[in-house]
Amino acid sequence: MRAGLIDLSEGSPDLPPPKPVVRALVQALKEPENHRYPGYAGKLSARRAVAQWYRRRFKVELDPEKEVTMLIGSKEGAAHLIWAVCGEGDTVAVCDPNYPVYPNQTRLAGAVPLTVPLEEKNRFLPDLDRLERSASRLKLLCLNFPNNPTAAVATLDFYRQIVTLALKFGFYVVNDNVYSELYFGRVPPPSVLEVPAAADCCLELHSLSKTFSLAGWRIGFVVGNRRLIQALLKIKQNIDSGPFGAIQDAAAFALRHAASLTGPIRREYQRRRDAFCAGLAAAGWPVSIPEATFYVWARLPELFAGRQRGSRSYAFTLELLKRCRVMAAPGSGFGRSGEGFVRFALVAPVPKLREAALRIGRWLRSAGLAEEIANCQLSIAKRRPEIGDSA
Ligand SMILES: *Cc1c(COP(=O)(O)O)cnc(C)c1O
Repeated sequence: MRAGLIDLSEGSPDLPPPKPVVRALVQALKEPENHRYPGYAGKLSARRAVAQWYRRRFKVELDPEKEVTMLIGSKEGAAHLIWAVCGEGDTVAVCDPNYPVYPNQTRLAGAVPLTVPLEEKNRFLPDLDRLERSASRLKLLCLNFPNNPTAAVATLDFYRQIVTLALKFGFYVVNDNVYSELYFGRVPPPSVLEVPAAADCCLELHSLSKTFSLAGWRIGFVVGNRRLIQALLKIKQNIDSGPFGAIQDAAAFALRHAASLTGPIRREYQRRRDAFCAGLAAAGWPVSIPEATFYVWARLPELFAGRQRGSRSYAFTLELLKRCRVMAAPGSGFGRSGEGFVRFALVAPVPKLREAALRIGRWLRSAGLAEEIANCQLSIAKRRPEIGDSA
């Protein structure tokens, strides 16, 4: 019998949404007002809930009328923002590896993506000196911390330096902060808007998809610079009419109760992270343990390194699927700097993650054994005495 597939390839939360949020949605469905056009900037009540959450979570004051807009998912916001800000010939700095929406929408808008490599030696943060050298060409810098796929977390000091550069060279910054609540350390990840002058040049994207396991609902929001928000709304006015009102009401409820609702979700991902990383370590593949997000960004095991031509990440992921029935995302799919890595999304319960690690361990051991046997045979072959050898 074939073992069942364990799919860890996509960052699509498998946890059910918190029950009180579902109840809030059911209640909101009964409001006649919610079945009319919601208005493209989002309901003021929802935007107020966002501003209150920002105050509690980041100690940042936002004007709910001018500095907050509800989105039909943060992906929608990211895509339309690029269209609102950039045109033919503009340069947009995009991290590599990245969430593919950023470089792809840049190209679709006729602008040119400039790659900002995220390297392990810099803890997967952009090299600021290198960034500064191209800063005068930039219209927009797209950041995403805590990062998908590397799980890197930025510090407030890093954001300070980014804002200084942005103001000095006159470019805009958007930080995709959709993983702000999936953290495992004692210090929660910061917002770029905590930097005093950030509102002059920065926007930040958030989503309820990962934070509250509501990916299918399509609800997120963007906050920050009012001119940029105006520009975004100009585009959105001509494309959509805002998220469904009932979903905005439930989202507002979730944000008001974020302090109690996000804890259990975080703890579950932490259990998964610990189980999976321990499992891989026991399998002889020690990986770095993420401090945030639900991704494990793993350098390919030694055994596999340097063996393949072409994309090793891709070849490894394919082997993983065939030999272990475990599906992961090849690092090279997130950009050139992702080569040599593989991304696991912790979107399966602990027993399945343990099973995945066990299967990987079995495979790596058998592959290692096969190699050892091959080496051994080679040396035996070499040492095999030939007729005529003196004893
Ligand atoms: C999942 C993800 C999103 C998409 O969020 P939605 O609000 O569901 O559109 C955006 N950015 C990053 C980096 C993500 O990983």
